Amino acid sequence: MNTDLRGIGMTSQRTRDRLVARLQERGIESQDVLTVIREMPRHLFVDEALASRAYEDTALPIGHGQTISQPYIVAKMTEILLEGGPREKVMEVGTGSGYQTAVLSKLVDRVFSVERISPLQNQARERFYQLKLNNIRLKHSDGNWGWEWYAPYDGIIVTCAPEQVPQELLRQLAPGGRLVIPVGGSAGQSLRVIDRVGDTFEETELDPVSFVPLLSGQI
Ligand code: SAH
Repeated sequence: MNTDLRGIGMTSQRTRDRLVARLQERGIESQDVLTVIREMPRHLFVDEALASRAYEDTALPIGHGQTISQPYIVAKMTEILLEGGPREKVMEVGTGSGYQTAVLSKLVDRVFSVERISPLQNQARERFYQLKLNNIRLKHSDGNWGWEWYAPYDGIIVTCAPEQVPQELLRQLAPGGRLVIPVGGSAGQSLRVIDRVGDTFEETELDPVSFVPLLSGQI
């Protein structure tokens, strides 16, 4: 590790602890999730100019009109995904900076992440390499179609909001699997949890959220 990275890492240990304390205050209970967030260097997932704000509990721009998700939301979605059973194979739609992907990679066996914007995917790949996260596979594609090749998944997490749940994602969910997804348009979104029980789907609506939209096609 070069001295610049070490410098940022050291000064941010206290701010990282503060972030974790805030997530606990907001109701995150999973010690596994909190530990991973404490240890994950979020400043490597944003532009250098924003690195000093990386441990604030806020979304930040990552270019191409997209944002790295707020740590609370990452923690919450991860906690919900992991509840109710081990999740060995997880798919993510919307790699973006790769931060959520990296957090998941520490908690499940394998992560398959789909991103439609090629330069974001390439930057994320570089970060995973640097951090030696070897259980992540990436695909440049429109996540509306999931990632058929490795289906079915024990868990699917979507980090951009469609107006309706893409049917293909439900199809690629294993029995006993769980989909965590923000749903809604400009009138407002809410977080949904959908469990596959045999061939039926049980949906729970949680809090209002604010994600970038899930768009079609790839660039
Ligand atoms: N988990 C990411 C969130 C990035 S924002 C992070 O923490 O950094 C959401 C991402 O979803 C953006 O990168 C956007 O390009 C991507 N996205 C939007 N629609 C998509 C689609 N149809 N397929 C794949 N990715 C999509």
